[in-house]
Amino acid sequence: MSTEKPIYVTQPFLPPLEEFTPYLEKIWNSRILANNGPFHRELEQALCEYLGVEYISLFANGTLALVTALQALRITGEVITTPYSFVATSHSLLWNGVKPVFVDIDPDTFNLDPARIEAAITPHTTAIMPVHCYGRPCDVDAIQHIADNYNLKIIYDAAHAFGVNDSGGTVLRHGDLSVLSFHATKVFNTFEGGAIVCPDAKTKIRIDHLKNFGYVDELTVVAPGINGKMNEFNAALGLLQLKYIDQAIADRQRIDAIYREQLDGIPGVRFLPAVEVHTANYAYFPILIGTEYPLSRDALNDRLKEHNIYARRYFYPLISNFSMYRGLPSAKQENLPIATETALQVLCLPIYPALNEQEQQRITRLIRSCADTRHVA
Ligand SMILES: *Cc1c(COP(=O)(O)O)cnc(C)c1O
Repeated sequence: MSTEKPIYVTQPFLPPLEEFTPYLEKIWNSRILANNGPFHRELEQALCEYLGVEYISLFANGTLALVTALQALRITGEVITTPYSFVATSHSLLWNGVKPVFVDIDPDTFNLDPARIEAAITPHTTAIMPVHCYGRPCDVDAIQHIADNYNLKIIYDAAHAFGVNDSGGTVLRHGDLSVLSFHATKVFNTFEGGAIVCPDAKTKIRIDHLKNFGYVDELTVVAPGINGKMNEFNAALGLLQLKYIDQAIADRQRIDAIYREQLDGIPGVRFLPAVEVHTANYAYFPILIGTEYPLSRDALNDRLKEHNIYARRYFYPLISNFSMYRGLPSAKQENLPIATETALQVLCLPIYPALNEQEQQRITRLIRSCADTRHVA
């Protein structure tokens, strides 16, 4: 067993503790802990400016935000989505009594393949829920085109896409709603938190009601809303984190570039093409282990663990393979060949601002040395 310091796939970014004290003092002095307090309002404003959106509604976590986004648009029937995501994407549909219909992914982006969406549309389809997987934008124009043709809504699970832009601005502007997660493992975190990006004031007001039990005022409840509100502690954390986010993303970009350089040319190790800063947030560093590599993905993962390096098979298993989805016709492996193969090959390597060069070399040298074993043995 290795005695080397463990390296985990991610490590949450935290600002210096003493910088949080003034925020706590304000909360203690004001005695305002929740319900659209001053930090909540300030963080909504600050995020609108940072992300380049007009309206945002903060949530206690991303999953509640997904569930509420579907409520806000009154989504029913069937929704087309990707099996290659975190399970909360599809769970939010089941919480709304909606049937997920899985469509395969594009092998070059790991995002929902627009060319396969149309064949999955039925008279019950009401929406598409794609994911900007690993923070790489979906083919938003193609998806919008299909949605327009069939009168479908689009709810983007943008949990990975904080701070990601395309040529026209933030990717969060696409679709009817975009949902963010600020969980500890994400690029921008409030310990736990989430948000819905809204296209207009009317939609934001409706979502604000829905996350507060449906309350409009003391005497008026307009919907069977939920308690999805972000509290003042998490909102204050967000304001402090926001001061460090550009540095955190720049650190991630440096780590991304080093991986590309140090893993380049290893037979059977493939990764996504490099992207420019602002069009990426470097949230993940997935590699695909192909048959030319002497070890299987799982064997490599075990080898890394023996050296106290904890990568993650993300996303494996596919959502469609969990028991509550397996029985759906669209969950069949024949329907999802690319997602199935990707889930068997993918390994997300550690990436977080505090990962240093020596630690990164421990990872890349091991991956390279395993590739060479064939010749040494
Ligand atoms: C993290 C994540 C979620 C869930 O967000 P939480 O804030 O943890 O509830 C949903 N979808 C995707 C793709 C995620 O990565």
